[in-house]
Amino acid sequence: MDKKYSGGCVDFIDDGKITGILKTTSEDPVRVRELIAKSMEKKPLAPEETAVLLAAEKPELVEEIFAAAKKLKKDVYGNRIVIFAPLYIGNLCVNNCAYCAFRKSNAETVRTTLGKEDVIKQIEALEDKGHKRLILVFGESPKYNAEFMAETVRTVYSVKKGRGEIRRVNINAAPTDIESYKIIKAAGIGTYQIFQETYHHETYKKMHQGTGPKTDYLYRLDGLFRAFEGGCDDVGIGALFGLYNWRFEVLGLVTHSLKLQERFGVGPHTISFPRLRPALGVNLDKKYFVSDYDFKRLVAILRLSVPYTGMILTAREPANVRRELMEFGVSQIDAGTRVELAGYTDKGTKQKTDREQFEIGDMRSLDEILRELLQNDYIPSFCTSCYRSGRTGKQFMEFAIPGFIEQFCTPNALLTLAEYLQDYATPETKQDGEALIKREIAKIPDGSMKSKLLERIDGIMKTGKRDLYF
Ligand code: SAM
Ligand code: SF4
Repeated sequence: MDKKYSGGCVDFIDDGKITGILKTTSEDPVRVRELIAKSMEKKPLAPEETAVLLAAEKPELVEEIFAAAKKLKKDVYGNRIVIFAPLYIGNLCVNNCAYCAFRKSNAETVRTTLGKEDVIKQIEALEDKGHKRLILVFGESPKYNAEFMAETVRTVYSVKKGRGEIRRVNINAAPTDIESYKIIKAAGIGTYQIFQETYHHETYKKMHQGTGPKTDYLYRLDGLFRAFEGGCDDVGIGALFGLYNWRFEVLGLVTHSLKLQERFGVGPHTISFPRLRPALGVNLDKKYFVSDYDFKRLVAILRLSVPYTGMILTAREPANVRRELMEFGVSQIDAGTRVELAGYTDKGTKQKTDREQFEIGDMRSLDEILRELLQNDYIPSFCTSCYRSGRTGKQFMEFAIPGFIEQFCTPNALLTLAEYLQDYATPETKQDGEALIKREIAKIPDGSMKSKLLERIDGIMKTGKRDLYF
């Protein structure tokens, strides 16, 4: 193991142990069924238990895992999908990640950092489409220090175009120190995301050579523990699938999640599982690339192993993969995504490859994606209520408070959908959306919740009220 960082983190990822668990766990249908039953009770699975699901190979057994993930999603999480968009702020980078077009040694990438006016233009374009939730993405550079990030967050919140506003800003950026997290948190961020990329030490070393803070595995692994210390209690973990054995990475994610839970009483708010995409000047060995089938398996198994955690599936994946995986318990997707710098104000749909981190697979507009979700009976949600009502970290108890989804999530999803339909939807999407709202309201039992919700939806649709939530 690599032990460079001495900031207090014990390296809790033991490669030998994980490899050993994977090697010694063999296919066992009876255990698989027992563990499925356990996760249906929303109990997290230990790495050893997750390995049992990973060892299932027979197609019929894998189908049982798929069916269980679908059932868990349906019974426990309902049919909401939270919608967000990424906004790349700058692609300067001091690191040399082998898989990323932004790496320092890539001379082909045109380096840009959005200034305040550029940020305002991008936000106006995003608001004009109907977005309410963003994730800001940064390369790693001394220029992107805590003050810079905090100032960018404040700028984003300050832009209000027409009825548009951004109500939640998350961050995906390099790990930093506790004082910096405090400054960034004070600007009002939601989740701070850091992906470990690969939990396998040797692969990590191979992928992050040269200089730059990202060469230090342990500093990165400890990044979200420092974030918690700095007051960021909503954190997101992730692994970049395709760098090493996918089963190993799943156990890495599960171990990381349990460690956060153990230390802070709350696990990560979200898990991301980006799959490696083609990127400018990147030519990696395909040995560990994950097939669509295995990708499906890993998403279903993660759903079952970490039943309390939100799962994010990004537009790296093509529409058909997203469509299928959504059923397996994905809770957030991005839509109308552009990953090239200043891409939201570009005309046309052609990406400018010399300014983007990787190629995306789903270039559809926000409205197109929402229409498809509505037609498939999902409720697209722009809800930001928990975070703005202080229900974060330990207080975020979506699954601990009985009836939480009925009381908060579904009504808030419908309210934010109603706003979108009034302000931004195409006529076809509006029609589909209004039909879905009717169907959803019909499912709610008569009572004070239903009448309050009807009153608020009327307020949005008829009297122009906005930002109503429970
Ligand atoms: N620079 C910060 C860092 O590395 O932590 C912020 C994150 S980076 C801009 C966003 C994420 O994109 C990375 O953590 C990595 O997982 C992912 N990524 C990089 N290259 C990729 C590629 N070729 N395909 C898919 N995802 C990629
Ligand atoms: Fe830089 Fe992040 Fe890309 Fe690595 S993944 S080169 S740190 S932007």
